[in-house]
Amino acid sequence: MISEKMYELGTNPSVIRDLFEYGNKRKAEIGADKVFDFSIGNPSVPAPACVKEAAIDLLQNGDEVALHGYTSAPGDAGLRKTIAEYLNEQHGTSLTADNLYITVGAAASLSISLKALAEEGDEFITFAPFFPEYRVFVENTGSQLVVVDCDKKDFQIDIADFEKAVTPHTKGIILNSPNNPSGVVIKKEGIEAVCEVLLNKQTEYGHPIFLIADEPYRELVYGDVEVPYLMNYYDNTIVCYSYSKSLSLPGERIGYIAVSDQAAEWKKIFAAVCGAGRSLGYVCAPSLFQQVVKRCMGRTSDVSVYKKNRDLLYNALTEYGYRCIKPDGAFYLFVEALEEDAKAFSERAKEFELLLVPADSFGTEGFVRISYCVSTEQIENSLPAFKALAEAYQ
Ligand code: PLP
Repeated sequence: MISEKMYELGTNPSVIRDLFEYGNKRKAEIGADKVFDFSIGNPSVPAPACVKEAAIDLLQNGDEVALHGYTSAPGDAGLRKTIAEYLNEQHGTSLTADNLYITVGAAASLSISLKALAEEGDEFITFAPFFPEYRVFVENTGSQLVVVDCDKKDFQIDIADFEKAVTPHTKGIILNSPNNPSGVVIKKEGIEAVCEVLLNKQTEYGHPIFLIADEPYRELVYGDVEVPYLMNYYDNTIVCYSYSKSLSLPGERIGYIAVSDQAAEWKKIFAAVCGAGRSLGYVCAPSLFQQVVKRCMGRTSDVSVYKKNRDLLYNALTEYGYRCIKPDGAFYLFVEALEEDAKAFSERAKEFELLLVPADSFGTEGFVRISYCVSTEQIENSLPAFKALAEAYQ
Protein backbone atom coordinates (compact mmCIF):
# COMPACT_ATOMS: atom_id res chain seq x y z
CA MET A 1 0.00 0.00 0.00
CA ILE A 2 2.76 2.41 0.94
CA SER A 3 6.54 2.26 0.96
CA GLU A 4 7.54 0.40 4.13
CA LYS A 5 11.00 1.93 3.88
CA MET A 6 9.59 5.49 3.86
CA TYR A 7 7.14 4.59 6.63
CA GLU A 8 10.04 3.38 8.73
CA LEU A 9 12.00 6.58 8.10
CA GLY A 10 9.00 8.75 8.88
CA THR A 11 8.11 6.99 12.11
CA ASN A 12 11.60 6.61 13.55
CA PRO A 13 12.86 10.13 14.22
CA SER A 14 16.60 10.45 14.74
CA VAL A 15 18.01 10.11 18.26
CA ILE A 16 19.00 13.78 18.04
CA ARG A 17 15.46 14.90 17.22
CA ASP A 18 14.09 12.65 20.00
CA LEU A 19 16.37 14.23 22.57
CA PHE A 20 15.63 17.72 21.25
CA GLU A 21 11.87 17.09 21.65
CA TYR A 22 12.43 15.66 25.13
CA GLY A 23 14.39 18.85 25.92
CA ASN A 24 11.53 21.08 24.80
CA LYS A 25 9.10 19.14 26.99
CA ARG A 26 11.43 19.26 29.97
CA LYS A 27 12.04 23.01 29.52
CA ALA A 28 8.28 23.62 29.63
CA GLU A 29 8.14 21.61 32.89
CA ILE A 30 11.05 23.07 34.86
CA GLY A 31 12.16 26.19 32.95
CA ALA A 32 14.46 26.61 29.96
CA ASP A 33 17.41 27.77 32.08
CA LYS A 34 17.37 24.54 34.12
CA VAL A 35 17.81 22.21 31.14
CA PHE A 36 21.27 21.97 29.55
CA ASP A 37 20.38 21.07 26.00
CA PHE A 38 23.43 20.08 23.95
CA SER A 39 21.47 18.00 21.46
CA ILE A 40 21.20 19.88 18.20
CA GLY A 41 23.53 21.63 15.72
CA ASN A 42 21.55 24.84 15.30
CA PRO A 43 24.03 27.76 15.19
CA SER A 44 23.69 29.94 18.30
CA VAL A 45 25.54 32.90 16.79
CA PRO A 46 23.37 35.24 14.70
CA ALA A 47 23.96 35.67 10.98
CA PRO A 48 26.38 38.52 10.17
CA ALA A 49 24.88 41.99 9.62
CA CYS A 50 25.32 41.70 5.84
CA VAL A 51 22.53 39.07 5.74
CA LYS A 52 19.91 41.35 7.28
CA GLU A 53 21.13 44.37 5.29
CA ALA A 54 21.02 42.46 2.01
CA ALA A 55 17.58 40.95 2.73
CA ILE A 56 16.08 44.34 3.70
CA ASP A 57 17.60 46.12 0.71
CA LEU A 58 16.50 43.40 -1.69
CA LEU A 59 12.97 43.38 -0.30
CA GLN A 60 12.69 47.16 -0.34
CA ASN A 61 14.48 47.97 -3.57
CA GLY A 62 14.78 44.72 -5.53
CA ASP A 63 12.73 43.54 -8.46
CA GLU A 64 9.87 41.98 -6.52
CA VAL A 65 8.73 39.66 -9.28
CA ALA A 66 12.22 38.27 -9.93
CA LEU A 67 12.98 38.07 -6.23
CA HIS A 68 10.13 35.68 -5.57
CA GLY A 69 10.23 33.97 -8.94
CA TYR A 70 11.89 30.75 -10.08
CA THR A 71 15.55 31.01 -10.98
CA SER A 72 17.05 28.71 -13.57
CA ALA A 73 17.29 25.17 -12.17
CA PRO A 74 21.06 25.19 -11.42
CA GLY A 75 20.67 28.62 -9.80
CA ASP A 76 21.07 32.30 -10.61
CA ALA A 77 23.88 32.75 -13.17
CA GLY A 78 25.30 35.75 -11.29
CA LEU A 79 25.51 33.84 -8.00
CA ARG A 80 27.12 30.82 -9.67
CA LYS A 81 29.76 33.09 -11.23
CA THR A 82 30.37 34.90 -7.92
CA ILE A 83 30.88 31.60 -6.07
CA ALA A 84 33.22 30.26 -8.79
CA GLU A 85 35.33 33.43 -8.61
CA TYR A 86 35.40 33.31 -4.83
CA LEU A 87 36.54 29.66 -4.80
CA ASN A 88 39.20 30.38 -7.42
CA GLU A 89 40.53 33.26 -5.36
CA GLN A 90 40.55 31.20 -2.15
CA HIS A 91 41.87 27.91 -3.49
CA GLY A 92 43.53 28.61 -6.84
CA THR A 93 40.95 26.54 -8.74
CA SER A 94 39.71 27.39 -12.25
CA LEU A 95 35.96 26.97 -11.85
CA THR A 96 33.28 28.85 -13.77
CA ALA A 97 29.54 29.23 -13.27
CA ASP A 98 29.17 26.00 -15.28
CA ASN A 99 30.67 24.02 -12.38
CA LEU A 100 28.23 25.36 -9.79
CA TYR A 101 24.74 24.10 -8.94
CA ILE A 102 22.85 25.96 -6.20
CA THR A 103 20.97 23.78 -3.70
CA VAL A 104 18.74 23.93 -0.64
CA GLY A 105 21.64 23.21 1.73
CA ALA A 106 24.19 20.44 2.18
CA ALA A 107 21.57 17.73 2.67
CA ALA A 108 20.28 18.45 -0.84
CA SER A 109 23.84 18.82 -2.19
CA LEU A 110 24.60 15.32 -0.93
CA SER A 111 21.41 13.62 -2.01
CA ILE A 112 21.61 15.18 -5.49
CA SER A 113 25.31 14.30 -5.93
CA LEU A 114 24.75 10.71 -4.82
CA LYS A 115 21.72 10.34 -7.06
CA ALA A 116 23.73 11.75 -9.98
CA LEU A 117 26.50 9.15 -9.54
CA ALA A 118 24.77 5.99 -8.31
CA GLU A 119 24.11 2.98 -10.50
CA GLU A 120 22.71 -0.41 -9.53
CA GLY A 121 24.98 -2.28 -7.12
CA ASP A 122 27.16 0.71 -6.22
CA GLU A 123 28.76 1.28 -2.85
CA PHE A 124 29.73 4.55 -1.16
CA ILE A 125 32.27 4.55 1.65
CA THR A 126 32.25 6.87 4.63
CA PHE A 127 34.20 7.10 7.87
CA ALA A 128 32.72 6.58 11.34
CA PRO A 129 31.71 8.61 13.18
CA PHE A 130 29.54 10.13 10.44
CA PHE A 131 26.45 12.31 9.94
CA PRO A 132 23.63 9.71 10.21
CA GLU A 133 21.69 11.06 7.23
CA TYR A 134 24.39 9.70 4.89
CA ARG A 135 22.81 6.29 5.24
CA VAL A 136 19.39 7.66 4.31
CA PHE A 137 20.71 9.56 1.28
CA VAL A 138 22.87 6.68 0.00
CA GLU A 139 20.19 4.02 0.46
CA ASN A 140 17.65 6.26 -1.28
CA THR A 141 19.71 5.85 -4.46
CA GLY A 142 19.56 2.05 -4.16
CA SER A 143 23.26 1.94 -3.22
CA GLN A 144 24.93 0.64 -0.08
CA LEU A 145 26.78 2.64 2.55
CA VAL A 146 30.06 1.02 3.61
CA VAL A 147 31.43 2.30 6.91
CA VAL A 148 35.12 2.40 7.83
CA ASP A 149 35.98 3.19 11.45
CA CYS A 150 38.34 6.06 12.15
CA ASP A 151 41.25 5.52 14.47
CA LYS A 152 39.69 6.03 17.93
CA LYS A 153 42.74 7.72 19.42
CA ASP A 154 42.57 10.80 17.17
CA PHE A 155 39.61 10.16 14.80
CA GLN A 156 41.84 10.50 11.76
CA ILE A 157 41.36 8.05 8.87
CA ASP A 158 42.87 4.58 9.19
CA ILE A 159 44.30 4.22 5.70
CA ALA A 160 44.87 0.44 5.82
CA ASP A 161 41.24 -0.15 6.83
CA PHE A 162 40.04 2.26 4.16
CA GLU A 163 42.06 0.54 1.45
CA LYS A 164 40.58 -2.82 2.41
CA ALA A 165 37.05 -1.40 2.07
CA VAL A 166 37.46 -0.19 -1.53
CA THR A 167 36.06 -2.74 -4.00
CA PRO A 168 35.18 -2.75 -7.71
CA HIS A 169 31.67 -1.67 -6.56
CA THR A 170 32.95 1.51 -4.90
CA LYS A 171 31.48 4.49 -6.74
CA GLY A 172 32.61 7.11 -4.30
CA ILE A 173 33.53 8.12 -0.78
CA ILE A 174 31.98 10.78 1.43
CA LEU A 175 34.49 12.71 3.49
CA ASN A 176 33.36 15.26 6.06
CA SER A 177 35.96 17.60 7.54
CA PRO A 178 35.63 19.45 9.91
CA ASN A 179 33.62 16.51 11.12
CA ASN A 180 30.22 16.17 12.67
CA PRO A 181 30.28 14.68 15.35
CA SER A 182 34.01 14.48 16.23
CA GLY A 183 35.00 18.08 15.43
CA VAL A 184 38.17 16.69 13.88
CA VAL A 185 39.82 18.25 10.83
CA ILE A 186 41.38 15.55 8.64
CA LYS A 187 45.10 16.28 8.29
CA LYS A 188 46.71 17.00 4.92
CA GLU A 189 48.75 13.77 5.12
CA GLY A 190 45.55 11.77 5.68
CA ILE A 191 43.90 13.42 2.67
CA GLU A 192 46.96 12.71 0.51
CA ALA A 193 46.96 9.05 1.57
CA VAL A 194 43.23 8.70 0.84
CA CYS A 195 43.68 10.25 -2.61
CA GLU A 196 46.60 7.96 -3.40
CA VAL A 197 44.47 4.91 -2.59
CA LEU A 198 41.64 6.28 -4.76
CA LEU A 199 43.97 6.94 -7.68
CA ASN A 200 45.47 3.46 -7.51
CA LYS A 201 42.07 1.81 -7.25
CA GLN A 202 40.68 3.84 -10.16
CA THR A 203 43.55 2.57 -12.30
CA GLU A 204 43.17 -1.00 -11.05
CA TYR A 205 39.39 -1.12 -11.65
CA GLY A 206 39.35 1.05 -14.76
CA HIS A 207 36.53 3.33 -13.65
CA PRO A 208 36.32 6.62 -11.74
CA ILE A 209 35.84 6.69 -7.98
CA PHE A 210 34.45 10.01 -6.76
CA LEU A 211 35.40 11.97 -3.70
CA ILE A 212 32.38 13.76 -2.24
CA ALA A 213 33.55 16.46 0.14
CA ASP A 214 30.81 17.37 2.64
CA GLU A 215 31.91 20.78 3.88
CA PRO A 216 29.25 22.71 5.79
CA TYR A 217 31.77 23.41 8.57
CA ARG A 218 34.70 24.55 6.37
CA GLU A 219 34.96 28.01 7.96
CA LEU A 220 34.38 26.82 11.54
CA VAL A 221 37.96 26.13 12.57
CA TYR A 222 39.85 27.43 15.58
CA GLY A 223 43.45 28.50 15.56
CA ASP A 224 45.95 27.98 12.81
CA VAL A 225 44.38 24.91 11.23
CA GLU A 226 44.40 24.16 7.52
CA VAL A 227 41.35 22.53 5.95
CA PRO A 228 42.70 21.13 2.65
CA TYR A 229 40.56 21.97 -0.39
CA LEU A 230 39.97 18.54 -1.84
CA MET A 231 39.69 19.55 -5.51
CA ASN A 232 43.36 20.46 -5.27
CA TYR A 233 44.23 16.91 -4.19
CA TYR A 234 42.01 14.77 -6.37
CA ASP A 235 40.44 15.42 -9.78
CA ASN A 236 37.20 13.46 -9.41
CA THR A 237 35.96 15.66 -6.59
CA ILE A 238 32.49 17.04 -5.92
CA VAL A 239 32.17 19.59 -3.11
CA CYS A 240 28.88 19.74 -1.20
CA TYR A 241 28.66 23.03 0.61
CA SER A 242 26.09 24.92 2.62
CA TYR A 243 25.69 28.34 4.24
CA SER A 244 23.75 26.76 7.12
CA LYS A 245 26.64 26.96 9.58
CA SER A 246 29.04 29.57 8.14
CA LEU A 247 26.33 32.23 7.81
CA SER A 248 24.01 30.74 10.49
CA LEU A 249 21.21 30.21 7.95
CA PRO A 250 20.09 26.58 8.44
CA GLY A 251 16.41 27.45 8.15
CA GLU A 252 16.85 29.35 4.89
CA ARG A 253 18.09 26.23 3.06
CA ILE A 254 20.87 27.45 0.79
CA GLY A 255 24.11 25.82 -0.41
CA TYR A 256 25.75 24.50 -3.55
CA ILE A 257 27.43 21.64 -5.38
CA ALA A 258 30.77 22.36 -7.08
CA VAL A 259 31.85 19.76 -9.66
CA SER A 260 35.60 19.99 -10.26
CA ASP A 261 36.56 21.07 -13.78
CA GLN A 262 39.43 18.58 -13.50
CA ALA A 263 37.07 15.60 -13.18
CA ALA A 264 36.99 13.31 -16.17
CA GLU A 265 33.83 14.15 -18.13
CA TRP A 266 32.84 16.87 -15.68
CA LYS A 267 30.26 18.32 -18.07
CA LYS A 268 28.49 14.97 -18.12
CA ILE A 269 28.64 14.74 -14.33
CA PHE A 270 27.23 18.27 -14.06
CA ALA A 271 24.39 17.35 -16.42
CA ALA A 272 23.66 14.31 -14.23
CA VAL A 273 23.59 16.63 -11.19
CA CYS A 274 20.98 18.75 -12.98
CA GLY A 275 19.04 15.59 -13.81
CA ALA A 276 19.22 14.33 -10.23
CA GLY A 277 18.01 17.70 -8.88
CA ARG A 278 15.13 17.51 -11.33
CA SER A 279 14.24 13.92 -10.49
CA LEU A 280 14.24 14.68 -6.77
CA GLY A 281 11.90 17.62 -7.38
CA TYR A 282 14.13 20.42 -6.14
CA VAL A 283 13.19 22.87 -8.97
CA CYS A 284 15.50 25.66 -7.73
CA ALA A 285 16.91 27.08 -4.49
CA PRO A 286 15.12 29.99 -2.76
CA SER A 287 15.46 33.03 -4.95
CA LEU A 288 15.74 35.68 -2.23
CA PHE A 289 18.49 33.83 -0.41
CA GLN A 290 20.42 33.19 -3.59
CA GLN A 291 20.68 37.00 -3.83
CA VAL A 292 21.46 37.41 -0.14
CA VAL A 293 24.41 34.98 -0.12
CA LYS A 294 25.70 36.57 -3.33
CA ARG A 295 26.06 39.82 -1.41
CA CYS A 296 27.70 38.09 1.59
CA MET A 297 30.40 36.11 -0.23
CA GLY A 298 33.37 35.40 2.04
CA ARG A 299 31.60 36.57 5.19
CA THR A 300 30.86 34.40 8.22
CA SER A 301 29.10 34.65 11.56
CA ASP A 302 31.30 35.44 14.56
CA VAL A 303 32.88 32.00 15.01
CA SER A 304 35.06 33.25 17.89
CA VAL A 305 32.07 32.51 20.15
CA TYR A 306 32.34 28.80 19.28
CA LYS A 307 36.06 28.81 20.05
CA LYS A 308 35.34 30.35 23.45
CA ASN A 309 32.68 27.68 24.10
CA ARG A 310 34.98 24.89 22.97
CA ASP A 311 37.80 26.00 25.25
CA LEU A 312 35.54 26.47 28.24
CA LEU A 313 33.87 23.09 27.86
CA TYR A 314 36.97 21.13 26.88
CA ASN A 315 39.04 22.51 29.77
CA ALA A 316 36.34 21.93 32.35
CA LEU A 317 35.36 18.44 31.18
CA THR A 318 38.92 17.14 30.99
CA GLU A 319 39.52 18.56 34.48
CA TYR A 320 36.50 16.58 35.77
CA GLY A 321 37.97 13.40 34.29
CA TYR A 322 36.09 13.10 30.99
CA ARG A 323 38.13 11.91 28.03
CA CYS A 324 37.90 13.55 24.62
CA ILE A 325 40.18 14.91 21.95
CA LYS A 326 40.32 18.67 21.52
CA PRO A 327 38.38 19.38 18.33
CA ASP A 328 39.81 21.83 15.79
CA GLY A 329 36.56 22.62 14.05
CA ALA A 330 32.74 22.45 13.76
CA PHE A 331 30.94 22.93 17.07
CA TYR A 332 30.89 19.47 18.62
CA LEU A 333 32.79 17.77 21.40
CA PHE A 334 32.98 13.97 21.13
CA VAL A 335 33.28 12.59 24.63
CA GLU A 336 33.85 9.04 25.87
CA ALA A 337 30.81 7.85 27.80
CA LEU A 338 31.55 7.01 31.44
CA GLU A 339 30.01 3.58 31.02
CA GLU A 340 30.18 1.14 28.12
CA ASP A 341 26.65 1.78 26.86
CA ALA A 342 26.45 5.38 25.59
CA LYS A 343 22.63 5.24 25.53
CA ALA A 344 22.55 4.32 29.23
CA PHE A 345 25.06 7.10 29.90
CA SER A 346 22.88 9.61 28.03
CA GLU A 347 19.88 8.48 30.13
CA ARG A 348 21.90 8.94 33.33
CA ALA A 349 22.96 12.43 32.15
CA LYS A 350 19.28 13.34 31.83
CA GLU A 351 18.98 12.94 35.62
CA PHE A 352 21.36 15.92 35.80
CA GLU A 353 19.34 17.77 33.11
CA LEU A 354 22.20 17.29 30.64
CA LEU A 355 21.08 16.36 27.12
CA LEU A 356 23.96 14.55 25.40
CA VAL A 357 23.49 12.58 22.17
CA PRO A 358 24.63 8.93 22.31
CA ALA A 359 26.84 8.43 19.26
CA ASP A 360 25.68 4.94 18.24
CA SER A 361 23.69 6.42 15.36
CA PHE A 362 26.87 8.15 14.17
CA GLY A 363 28.39 4.67 13.79
CA THR A 364 30.66 4.80 16.85
CA GLU A 365 29.72 3.19 20.15
CA GLY A 366 30.76 4.34 23.60
CA PHE A 367 30.72 8.12 22.94
CA VAL A 368 28.33 11.04 23.27
CA ARG A 369 28.18 14.18 21.14
CA ILE A 370 27.93 17.56 22.82
CA SER A 371 26.84 20.41 20.52
CA TYR A 372 28.41 23.53 21.97
CA CYS A 373 26.63 25.91 19.59
CA VAL A 374 24.73 27.24 22.61
CA SER A 375 25.13 30.37 24.72
CA THR A 376 28.35 30.59 26.73
CA GLU A 377 26.10 31.18 29.74
CA GLN A 378 24.46 27.76 29.22
CA ILE A 379 27.89 26.14 29.25
CA GLU A 380 28.93 28.00 32.40
CA ASN A 381 25.69 27.05 34.16
CA SER A 382 25.98 23.40 33.07
CA LEU A 383 29.45 22.79 34.50
CA PRO A 384 28.32 21.79 38.03
CA ALA A 385 25.99 19.22 36.41
CA PHE A 386 28.86 17.76 34.34
CA LYS A 387 30.97 17.61 37.51
CA ALA A 388 28.21 15.88 39.47
CA LEU A 389 27.66 13.39 36.64
CA ALA A 390 31.36 12.49 36.61
CA GLU A 391 31.32 12.11 40.39
CA ALA A 392 28.34 9.78 40.17
CA TYR A 393 30.60 7.33 38.31
CA GLN A 394 33.50 7.47 40.77
N1 PLP B 1 26.47 17.36 6.55
C1 PLP B 1 26.81 17.45 7.84
C2 PLP B 1 28.08 16.83 8.29
C3 PLP B 1 25.99 18.12 8.76
O1 PLP B 1 26.34 18.18 10.04
C4 PLP B 1 24.78 18.69 8.28
C5 PLP B 1 23.87 19.38 9.21
O2 PLP B 1 24.03 19.44 10.39
C6 PLP B 1 24.48 18.57 6.92
C7 PLP B 1 25.34 17.90 6.10
C8 PLP B 1 23.22 19.15 6.37
O3 PLP B 1 23.34 20.54 6.33
P1 PLP B 1 22.22 21.49 5.73
O4 PLP B 1 21.48 22.08 6.89
O5 PLP B 1 22.96 22.55 5.00
O6 PLP B 1 21.36 20.70 4.85
